[in-house]
Amino acid sequence: MKITNIQTIEKIGAEVQLAGWIQSLRKMGKIVFIDLRDRSSLLQVVLVPSELDVDSQEQMKKLKPESVISVIGVVQARGEKQINPNLPTGSVEVLAKSLKIFSESLTPPFEIVNEDRQANEELRLKYRYLDLRHERMKNNIILRHKIVRFIREYFYNHDFLEIETPYISKSTPEGARDFLVPSRNFPGKFYALPQSPQQYKQLLMVAGMEKYFQIVRCFRDEDQRGDRQAEFTQLDVEMSFVTQEDILQLIEELFIQLVKNILPQKKFTSQPFVRLTYQQAMEQYGSDRPDLRQDKSDPDELAFVWVTDFPMFEYKSGDQRWGAAHHPFTAINPQDLEKLQDPKKMGEIKALQYDLVLNGYEIAGGSIRTHEANVLHRVFELLGHTNEEIQAKFGHLLEAFKYGVPPHGGIAAGLDRVVMVLANEPSIREVIAFPKTSDNRDPLMDSPSDVTLDQLDELGLSLKKRIN
Ligand code: ASP
Repeated sequence: MKITNIQTIEKIGAEVQLAGWIQSLRKMGKIVFIDLRDRSSLLQVVLVPSELDVDSQEQMKKLKPESVISVIGVVQARGEKQINPNLPTGSVEVLAKSLKIFSESLTPPFEIVNEDRQANEELRLKYRYLDLRHERMKNNIILRHKIVRFIREYFYNHDFLEIETPYISKSTPEGARDFLVPSRNFPGKFYALPQSPQQYKQLLMVAGMEKYFQIVRCFRDEDQRGDRQAEFTQLDVEMSFVTQEDILQLIEELFIQLVKNILPQKKFTSQPFVRLTYQQAMEQYGSDRPDLRQDKSDPDELAFVWVTDFPMFEYKSGDQRWGAAHHPFTAINPQDLEKLQDPKKMGEIKALQYDLVLNGYEIAGGSIRTHEANVLHRVFELLGHTNEEIQAKFGHLLEAFKYGVPPHGGIAAGLDRVVMVLANEPSIREVIAFPKTSDNRDPLMDSPSDVTLDQLDELGLSLKKRIN
């Protein structure tokens, strides 16, 4: 069984079996030095023909960067002058006795040794499996794994249930365009991929689950930006019988513990986190996601800010109508409940809604929810829905609320953004294993792609020719 490269530092004098990729080769006369790469580390392997069996000597002639090999050899301590302090295995090297090539590699389209993002995005995504071989990308994936693991443990320890909700579902009003999935059994009808599990998590509260969380994919058919992808991962949380304060404290503690455990070198600008109302944030910083770092050139400074008391409604000047600033399920601040009766006062109504901002990025948002069916109905009316539309779109939720609904609230954090900021990366694409391009393509799988006429037929669909 192979051991990992990093384990060799504790195996001086022992014969070991290793396997991995050839990061680089250096020939010095008849001797070849290999930087052997596995997930744990690089390791120097020395090939001296006279030490190798005959088969291995033949294999030695065919070595190329990025080929996958196995080596059996003896771990040796390096002489003091040969120690490489920049390498975790820099105190040892392995003198090979036998060598086997598992598979040869073509010359990669970009260098793996070079950590600069020297290849363009298209090429990096087309050959993502090679891009992920970069040390920096591997470290981002490992950091993400550690963060996800920490979050799960945190919520398990706080008595939450991890519950999955459907992906093939119905439109949810988070304000973005839906991805539609045609139904084969019901031609002409469509599922929508969820923009978030919002309604399901609220239904789980009606069901009595009390504390729910999920690390879940959400889908919004939006144009891409540096910190947005059409599909993204969210930490989704919902709790019954809670106040806004309970939720803020739970999430604040999560991030404090997460940073302390996983990235202890990072420093908080302020702890407890700064709190601003939406109005204060706008008046003092002209933004509802202010970057409050003291030194923006410091990669280890984390400025978390809670922004609270958002307006419930916002006027969408493009569409010339009022929309929900967050989503319609957000509870109205009790002081403003009466204003619901006067459409002229919509702009003054405050919601029990909060965002968490980190270094100028909105990393989480949530609210206490309206659990009174009549208030929720009124909100939908003010948003311009007719009674029929309310029944068709939200009837299931209003119906559920007639069977004993607990007061509840929750929050969702954008996992990709959290990892991006903690990894000091400029884009969430650097922390997602297989992201899409800025125009929503996957150059590796070549999607979106054509489908056959039979497939369309089965779905009862035909394509309208585009006339330009
Ligand atoms: N569903 C909301 C969102 O995805 C978060 C929440 O209110 O819990 O933004």
